[in-house]
Order: sequence, then structure tokens, then C-alpha cells
Amino acid sequence: MKLNIRPMTEQEAWNHVLDGRFFWFDHRQQMGYNRENLIPNDPHMRRLLETKDLSADEEAGIRKTFRKIYQQHFSKLESKAAELAAYSAGMQEIADFFAARGYAVPNELDVLITFGTGGSYSNSSNIVYLCATRRTADRNYQTMRHEFIHLLIEHPIIRKYNVPHILKEAVVDEISRLFGMRPEQFENNDTYKFAGNYINSDSIKTELDGAVKRMMNDYNAMLARERVAQNN
Ligand SMILES: [Zn+2]
Repeated sequence: MKLNIRPMTEQEAWNHVLDGRFFWFDHRQQMGYNRENLIPNDPHMRRLLETKDLSADEEAGIRKTFRKIYQQHFSKLESKAAELAAYSAGMQEIADFFAARGYAVPNELDVLITFGTGGSYSNSSNIVYLCATRRTADRNYQTMRHEFIHLLIEHPIIRKYNVPHILKEAVVDEISRLFGMRPEQFENNDTYKFAGNYINSDSIKTELDGAVKRMMNDYNAMLARERVAQNN
């Protein structure tokens, strides 16, 4: 697999900010996300997440500020991309593992670097988005691999069995463990324990599909029982 790690262009980075803003007002704010993760650390930029209703003038001003920040810090994005390029073997390891089990692995994967912390992915266009400026290379590498696992199992596993968000993270974290990674959002909660009953190093190696299928059968049966109990 060819790995293309590069900074986002200024336009891509701005679009990423606007996407983040959309999700902020859509659900992230209510979910208690840290807004500092989503945008460059700048009082003018913060206005984007303080009010939904910006005038066109104000938005144009913020866009100008962003362009300046982007240019000032572009070399940082470049050095974060260069740091990550040294970790390509760990990405190939994951690609090989899934390819050997019949999963579709892209010939090329783009990893686009921008400001902030955290990551996301687009499985339809084989892109991992990495907000990499505030973390160490090692931490960014963990996130890059986490998002890559998401991307690989999104269609064949997650959508196939309609796995809800919290269980999806548990599945990815269990797979991550197999590659020696620290779980991204390990919580010692009931959902993770539940997922752990099905998803472990053996089942991941031999029959991930079947394990997730059994997990979701039981999960859906449990939800149905809860619904019945509530209606009585
Ligand atoms: Zn995740």
C-alpha cells in the first residue's frame, strides 16, 4: 500500500474547520467535546464555535485570520507529516493483516495533516484526516493506525451489521490491542466488557465477521428485551 502523508492545502484545511464547526453545532457541543481540538488556538478562530450566526463580513475576516495562521504554521504541518512518514511499516502491518483475511485494502492511502488533535476518516475516498499539531509523533501514529482500522472495517463489518458508535470504538480498540497499541478511548465500562466477550485476539485473527455478527445478535436481542420491559 502506498502511503501519501502530506499537509492539507489551505483550502482543504479550511473546509476541515467548517466541517468541524458543522459537527460542533450538530452534536459535539452537547456531547462535551473539547472545542480547542477542532480549530487553531486563536481567539478570532474561536468565534466560529461561539456563535452559529456569523455575518458574512465576520466569516470573511476569520477566513483571513485562518489563512495567516496556516501560512505561519505550514512548516509545522510539514514536519508533522515528515515525522509520520517514518512509521509506514506499522501501517503496512495492518494492511497485510486484513489483506490476508480477504478484506479490501486500498492500493493508496492519503493521510492529510492539519491543526488540532484527533483524527477521522473517509472510507469512500481512502483518506485519513489527522489533526496532528498538538501531539507527539508517537501519539499521532497511534491515531493514524486507529483511523486506518476504522476505514478498513467500515463497510465489511460496521455497516454490514449496523454496529452503533460505542461498540464500533470498542471493536477498533480491541483490534488495536492486537497490534500493540494503547486503546484510543478505552473505558472500563459495560459496553467495552460486553464487546470483549466476542472480540478478542483469537476471534479477530480467525473470524472477526462471525464474532461481530454474534455480538450484534446478542446486542439487538438485549435491546429488544429492554424495550419490552419498558412497555410493560
Ligand atoms: Zn475511533
